[in-house]
Amino acid sequence: MPPRKNNKPSFRQSVDMMVDRAVEVLELEPGLAEAIKGCNAVIEVRFPVEIRGKIRVFTGWRATHSIHRLPAKGGIRYATAVNKDEVEALAALMTYKCAIVDVPFGGSKGGLCIDPRKFKREEMQRITRRFAKELATRGFLSPATNVPAPDMGTGQREMAWIADTYKHLFPEDINYTASVTGKPVHSGGVRGRLEATGRGVCYALQEFFRHPEDVRAAGLDGGLDGKRIIIQGFGNVGYHAARFLSEDGAKIVAIIEHDGAIMDKDGLPVDKVHAHMIENGGVREFPGAHYVEEGKAILEEECDILIPAAIEEVIDKDNAPRLKAKLVAEAANGPVTFEADRILRERGVVVIPDAYLNAGGVVVSYFEWVRNLKHIRFGRMERRLEELRGKHTLKAIEEATGKKVPEWITKELSHGPDELDLVNSGLDDTMRLAFQQIRELKASSEKVEDYRTAAYVIAIEKIERAYLESGIYY
Ligand code: GLU
Repeated sequence: MPPRKNNKPSFRQSVDMMVDRAVEVLELEPGLAEAIKGCNAVIEVRFPVEIRGKIRVFTGWRATHSIHRLPAKGGIRYATAVNKDEVEALAALMTYKCAIVDVPFGGSKGGLCIDPRKFKREEMQRITRRFAKELATRGFLSPATNVPAPDMGTGQREMAWIADTYKHLFPEDINYTASVTGKPVHSGGVRGRLEATGRGVCYALQEFFRHPEDVRAAGLDGGLDGKRIIIQGFGNVGYHAARFLSEDGAKIVAIIEHDGAIMDKDGLPVDKVHAHMIENGGVREFPGAHYVEEGKAILEEECDILIPAAIEEVIDKDNAPRLKAKLVAEAANGPVTFEADRILRERGVVVIPDAYLNAGGVVVSYFEWVRNLKHIRFGRMERRLEELRGKHTLKAIEEATGKKVPEWITKELSHGPDELDLVNSGLDDTMRLAFQQIRELKASSEKVEDYRTAAYVIAIEKIERAYLESGIYY
């Protein structure tokens, strides 16, 4: 793909250049590197839908980046800026993301060029079902080979329509609910998926702050408590990340949205801002906060942690030299360009990369897919048994010691884990382990300067192994 007109690398090229830093560290054979980096397949579909008496033609893509593991996994984005290069870049990120957090999937991504706010619910349903049919009939939607999920502009509602479309096309497929993840719980979704990406961001940052050397290297100290955070993008990911982080004592000092930014150095009330956003479609006029119309400038404000949680390329070579954050936590996919990444590194600003930090969504998607294949809710068989065992343990302790066990321990022990407990436990464990591997690799290799390269080295090693073991050369 040639560079864009203004000579800026495309999003796809930016991702590839970041991956190349890891390829160099690994001294990977060029042919193998090329095989790993390239997209396996991309389809472009164009289909008509009759809307309010007129025929409208929609264009969409689905890219499968890697099939070293199946199914290939990744969201479907609805936005007017969607294009093939973006979908390919996002599909590549999915491959690396899954490998980093040990989710046994390949990478994929889809996009439909549409402004979902311009269509009624019933129209969106017809468009989505038609898009799903296009994908399914071409082998780009199936529980075994390609499983979409929500992304920007899509959510539970679209996923339910996609699953239902697949079910009607392939009623004999007993695993039809596993054809898509991020569904509503009543349609086979798993509890905790909706907030999973934001919760994963919080678990990842909690783990970062468990390592004082890493915290010091970023010019910070202590834990999350009291840290000043700026969030850019207050959609599903940004809102949930902000909510969990403020429950941990962090202060959300600014929220940047499409209609400007609001600021409060004592911390914004996250849930109230969210309710205001739902009612008014933006942050403007949120009572009691300082409002700035030029939202993008607020990325450069004083803070400890900057969390871009919206779209790609918001931190580029122009604003990277001026950022005051000590830590940039990439909740969005690709928010920092290759050039900006280099500038931040040279300035000593630590970046926790997207392919690790926002992987919580796909981790819980994996749990949902497994739940769908098992056809049973997590915890259904063992919850009461665990509860009973806890109660018996308590009784034994109290009888042996003659003392009453404190209330909070009684509560913990007599609670059998439900699906949400299990999902959150699996997510927390995954985010902790992945960060530990990334930081250990960074610390042990002189050639690896940053978390992103470390994460990509880990991912590529796993993908390389899968390729070679399964016989790429036959
Ligand atoms: N769209 C999300 C992402 O970019 C989730 C993908 C998934 O759950 O498959 O990671």
